[in-house]
Amino acid sequence: MNNTLTDSFKRKHTYLRISLTERCNLRCTYCMPAEGIPLLPKSHIMAYDEIYTIAKTFVDNGVTKIRLTGGEPLIRKDIPVILEKLASLKVEVAITTNGITIDRHLDTLKKYNIRNINVSLDTLSEGKFKEITRRNQFQKVYQNIILLVENGFNVKINAVLIKDFNEDEIIDFIEMTKELPISFRFIEFMPFDGNKWDLKKMVSYAEIMKKVTSHFSEETVERLQDAENDTSKNYRIKGFKGRFAIISSVTNPFCDSCNRLRLTADGKLKNCLFSATESDILTSLRAGKSIEPIIQKAVLGKFKVRGGMDTLKKLQEPKLHSKNRSMIAIGG
Ligand code: SAM
Ligand code: SF4
Repeated sequence: MNNTLTDSFKRKHTYLRISLTERCNLRCTYCMPAEGIPLLPKSHIMAYDEIYTIAKTFVDNGVTKIRLTGGEPLIRKDIPVILEKLASLKVEVAITTNGITIDRHLDTLKKYNIRNINVSLDTLSEGKFKEITRRNQFQKVYQNIILLVENGFNVKINAVLIKDFNEDEIIDFIEMTKELPISFRFIEFMPFDGNKWDLKKMVSYAEIMKKVTSHFSEETVERLQDAENDTSKNYRIKGFKGRFAIISSVTNPFCDSCNRLRLTADGKLKNCLFSATESDILTSLRAGKSIEPIIQKAVLGKFKVRGGMDTLKKLQEPKLHSKNRSMIAIGG
């Protein structure tokens, strides 16, 4: 495609993640500060027709996949309209959700052919779920994951691993994939504004694999072929129906094959999850200006690695990563 959004390192951007809201019905400690974040007035948040117009511009420029995220995307009352509008764009639309309201949206998800759903679940213990999310919703989330599987959705589970919190559950998570055809993805804990990140709290790719290979014999741990532009390294235990994967943005960044752009709920384009700068698309759209030049300029300004934090040393500097938003306000 001629007009694909290409940056100065020749990476083509075909994947747009759109945050629908900064609000959430959970309060995950790794995602948002305990005191919450100052919420923007509703008028600053993209309306469904603005989301559609912006998404269409990206699709016209080569985007083939859109993932809706947030905050919690399914708490938007107009989610059925958003899905209906995006379904008309003939791109793959996927959702990342905390799973709490999946049962209420099941028919809508089916109707608009949203087949790929990522659900966050950091623990299999009800007590620990309450501790990490500050809400008592484990049963609901777990039941909704099963509901998605029973209804034939393609389900990935995201778990952020944190030292002395849930690293002891790695094997239990993988055991879930014995009978469930899901992909369990372990995410290295990443630094964002206000999330009290500390490298010492992170469980690394190498540490995860050490636990896996000391439990399962080496010949049963199968390395799978990763999809093009995949952020995860994929594995399977031989004979299990599902798989597991590791997303190692901290110890093994996958920036070389990055094809992602992010749109925040207030209509700012971020060319990288870690980028401290943003391009205001919504204000230009509302002023009746063309947004294409802004998008192209933002893509060209993309750093080679993690928004310029190319070393672990830089990533560890609070004065660098705290220039970014909290994850909840970026849209993970
Ligand atoms: N509310 C939805 C959910 O929880 O899936 C969508 C938004 S959430 C910000 C998207 C993903 O970001 C979740 O899988 C969450 O685990 C991940 N996430 C949030 N903060 C993170 C952090 N500090 N490090 C790594 N992953 C993080
Ligand atoms: Fe909400 Fe998702 Fe952030 Fe948890 S990770 S607070 S569910 S947006």
